[in-house]
Amino acid sequence: MSRDKSETSAEEFFPGRKSLKAFREAAADCKACDLWERGIQTVFGEGARHAEVIFVGEQPGNEEDLAGKPFVGPAGRLLDDALIEAGIDRTQTYVTNVVKHFKWEPRGKRRIHKKPNTREIVACRPWLEAEISLLKPTIIVCLGATAAQSLLGPQFRVTKQRGQFIESTLAPYIVATVHPSSILRAPDDETRRLERRRFIDDLKKVAHVLSKTK
Ligand code: SF4
Repeated sequence: MSRDKSETSAEEFFPGRKSLKAFREAAADCKACDLWERGIQTVFGEGARHAEVIFVGEQPGNEEDLAGKPFVGPAGRLLDDALIEAGIDRTQTYVTNVVKHFKWEPRGKRRIHKKPNTREIVACRPWLEAEISLLKPTIIVCLGATAAQSLLGPQFRVTKQRGQFIESTLAPYIVATVHPSSILRAPDDETRRLERRRFIDDLKKVAHVLSKTK
């Protein structure tokens, strides 16, 4: 019996070999949801093979889709700077997204971010689970509501629970904070400065836990 497309999962595209390289290559051909037709390419996670901390965002943006690399656009640059201020070495981290293709809609000549739906998040989740199980990080940091609700449950509220370490079977420590793109969208400079400061404070909690586990 043929299966409904809505049931397709990324797991069906898994490689035989269990290595990050094999998973990255296999994800390049994933067609488990319709987003493969919209983005230019799969944007798999990247970073240190022995990363102690994984940062998980929602999905690649315009620049990430063009480059084929996660967190290289404006939000990624904000994350880089915030990591330096928090005392976390980005070369010792791994960055990825819940959904590996850029979902967008046209506005004039621009490609505007569109939030992935539940079907797309569920279809793509096996790639993220594979990254986590291969890397075995000490800490997972969810950046924004989509990542937090995907990994911590739909009841999770970043606004109320940001910066709190939550018990999880995924890693010894898991915590959520805002997505750096939300800081960039702040309505004025003062709000942006305050939100950036709160973001760095959340990252400092991550740095503190990392220092205790060394
Ligand atoms: S978004 Fe994820 S599940 Fe959908 S096609 Fe891309 S890699 Fe596959």
